[in-house]
Amino acid sequence: MSIEKGKKYSGKKIVILGLAKSGAAVAKLVQRCGAEVIVNDKKSREESPEAAELEKLGITVICGEHPEDLINQTIDLVIKNPGIPYSILPVEKAISLGIPVVTEIEIAYELSDAPIIGITGSNGKTTTTTLVGEILHNGGLSPVVAGNIGTVLSEQAVSVKSDQILVAELSSFQLKGTRAFHPAIACLLNVYDAHLDYHKTKEDYIHSKMKLFANQCPEDVAVLNYDNNVCRMASRQIKSTLLWFSLGEPVEQGSYIDNGFVMWKRPEAGSLAERMAHTPLIEKIIAVDDIALPGSHNLENVLASVCIAKAAGVDAEKIAGILRTFTGVEHRLEFVTEVEGVKYYNDSKATNPEAATRALRAFSAPIVLIAGGLDRGIDFKELVPVFSERVKGIIVYGQTAEKLSARAREAGINNIKCVDTVTDAVAAAHLMAQAGDIVLLSPACASWDMYKSFEERGSMFKQSVHKLKTSR
Ligand code: ADP
Repeated sequence: MSIEKGKKYSGKKIVILGLAKSGAAVAKLVQRCGAEVIVNDKKSREESPEAAELEKLGITVICGEHPEDLINQTIDLVIKNPGIPYSILPVEKAISLGIPVVTEIEIAYELSDAPIIGITGSNGKTTTTTLVGEILHNGGLSPVVAGNIGTVLSEQAVSVKSDQILVAELSSFQLKGTRAFHPAIACLLNVYDAHLDYHKTKEDYIHSKMKLFANQCPEDVAVLNYDNNVCRMASRQIKSTLLWFSLGEPVEQGSYIDNGFVMWKRPEAGSLAERMAHTPLIEKIIAVDDIALPGSHNLENVLASVCIAKAAGVDAEKIAGILRTFTGVEHRLEFVTEVEGVKYYNDSKATNPEAATRALRAFSAPIVLIAGGLDRGIDFKELVPVFSERVKGIIVYGQTAEKLSARAREAGINNIKCVDTVTDAVAAAHLMAQAGDIVLLSPACASWDMYKSFEERGSMFKQSVHKLKTSR
């Protein structure tokens, strides 16, 4: 971060709503820039271990409530934790007073000396962001992977140098709170019905995702899924150079599949074409069979990564080198082990029906599916066709157990069992599966009704599977 950039916040009075990891990080950051900072969280002080450290630095911390007079005309900026809804009093009041309400990624953008690659979508963000990081690294660039993926973006943004690249996984919640945020390369992987509990309408969800492109200009690059209707429609608003990726057909510029090969076609005109003029118009990147990541959904993530990497200037063979070895991220269609001829896969991160559908379609062998979790009010109707195509038996648990077993019955599945935990589900699946089958945890639901996180749920699954092996 250059001193010049930090000056933007000097002398400003900033309220930070939400004292999680990102709240504490951004509080320290803007205070270092010379801002007067107040952090507020409804959680009690006992539940806010970061409070003491912030107070030592001279930051005001208010816990246990949102005081009525917190927001007033003297406040210059509100930085809101992405998960906090817009309907709470301090946010409503700030908006009504015309005070900007942003998320921490906006501060990251304002302070970063490095260009940003922003990746969003309903599904595939973490996989694609991780893959892009690995490819850029192999291509001799110096990427720093951060954002929704676990490392706070603004924390990384202050330490990156101008010759590095910030590769950011971005959620719709984060993007909704942006104003000037401007990635040099922006990628929208797909848009499905998700997070409607937060966004209320699909329009608001799409609008939030599209904010990724709002400040881009023709020199920038937008990578979009040609096979996704929402991406196609939304592309009309984009002013930057469009690169498409498609599993279905050759695109005008971008990446696609031809005769079993991943292909790349660069633009023929415009600023990206000029920058890439020394490279062939069309390049073969890798044979689909040589890609280590399983599943057609991951092939989409691969195609998107190819567009991003090519736009960033990486050579085809450096891209292929990583695609041959990158097997994915933990809890995403992760192979656990084989027990008595049955392969076990952990896809605990599949927290919506679309993700579970993709996981089920990734296999041709019969599947014993383990699914269930938090009830977000969806009806799971879309799972019926893939259940009848791929699933020989299903073990359900959690708040959605009943709904899912009803859909399984509708799909003509006779082998349905309801259990209390993922651990019990593994035992039941072990009894149900025969050599040659797949046991797949792909819950189609979030984990919070029973587990702290999808990671905890996936780890329980893996532990139970490994125990099966040792107890034989
Ligand atoms: P996100 O970070 O967007 O949640 P992940 O890469 O963590 O995405 O993958 C989460 C789950 O979504 C995976 O377990 C997989 O089942 C599914 N998935 C991954 N990529 C895609 C894609 N491109 N399209 C549809 N589903 C996908």
